[in-house]
Amino acid sequence: MSPLAVVTHPGTVKPRDLRRWQKNEAQPVLACADCGVLIVDKLATADEVVTATAVEQRLHVGDREPVVMALPEPRQFRFGLCDACRQRRARAEEIIAKRPMLARSLGDKKYALSAIDAVLIVFDVLEQTGQEQLIDAKIDALRLALKNLSNAGGLARWSSRFAPVIKIGADPEQAGTHRWAHVTEAQLEVMRSDFAQYLRARTFRPEMVEPPEGENGHVALRGCLLCGVSRAPSTSRDDQPWGRLRSTQEAVLGGRGRPEKTYGYLCPACDKATDRIGGALGMNALEEAVYSFLEVSPKLGEFEFGRSRAEIIGLKAWCVTGQPPSTEAWAFLDGLGLEEIKKQLQKA
Ligand SMILES: [Zn+2]
Ligand SMILES: [Zn+2]
Repeated sequence: MSPLAVVTHPGTVKPRDLRRWQKNEAQPVLACADCGVLIVDKLATADEVVTATAVEQRLHVGDREPVVMALPEPRQFRFGLCDACRQRRARAEEIIAKRPMLARSLGDKKYALSAIDAVLIVFDVLEQTGQEQLIDAKIDALRLALKNLSNAGGLARWSSRFAPVIKIGADPEQAGTHRWAHVTEAQLEVMRSDFAQYLRARTFRPEMVEPPEGENGHVALRGCLLCGVSRAPSTSRDDQPWGRLRSTQEAVLGGRGRPEKTYGYLCPACDKATDRIGGALGMNALEEAVYSFLEVSPKLGEFEFGRSRAEIIGLKAWCVTGQPPSTEAWAFLDGLGLEEIKKQLQKA
């Protein structure tokens, strides 16, 4: 038996009269806007209004495979909301009410509610427990859930078959015999895999990773070329936080000028600093990396005549010092008195 029941009542309109039917707000079938289940409660209201702008149609051109096109066709549909979906939406409201910052960072409250509810829909469809735990979850856990689940959850809504585009096969005279009856096996598969991905991401703990050995016969130094840190945190399971292999010459980083190239990697902090000044590895990148480490931003062009930056006398990159790498960034600069330098630069 088809999971979708076409419910016909005496005197209901035929699809060709749909526009009139929608306009007259006669409700031959009231489906839940989210799970699509037939709402049998006679007093239920159809106050979930969705607006379609186009309708999908298969166009046959010659002998070729039919192409699906969306043709403009503004239309409105009205749905209801079953008790279970109403409760789930209330939970989404609760989650957002507790975190006004999250709503703001997502854009507006309406969008945030819809995105969080989409996350909860995945729990709902897959019959996963844990919706309640999300109410008090840390904001990072919620962001992970949003990133991994909101897309598939949103697409599972019954109403998404009618708006913004009326999908092929979507029939407003249908409703589900049970909740989520319209969700296809392919959709379920995506949801299960997204959910597994979400669980893996949630239990991920960053690992401290050493720089790669090098490549193409070029042996990399064992610390960040600029700050000398020996380990960097990975941001995901397969993440290699050290970026690409770089080459430099000692002379451009405060060294004596050995002609051979030096090979190695940049830690994420030094990589970002280098990017900020245009990507070239040199004294400007080195200073920018030190400043961001010290959390200072001396004004440009004021410190010393003829120089565009406040310069730290005697500054060298770790890769030219010959010192061993350290678990602490910039440990080799201790001799220069970093705290004192910071104070001076804050004045600059
Ligand atoms: Zn429902
Ligand atoms: Zn570094």
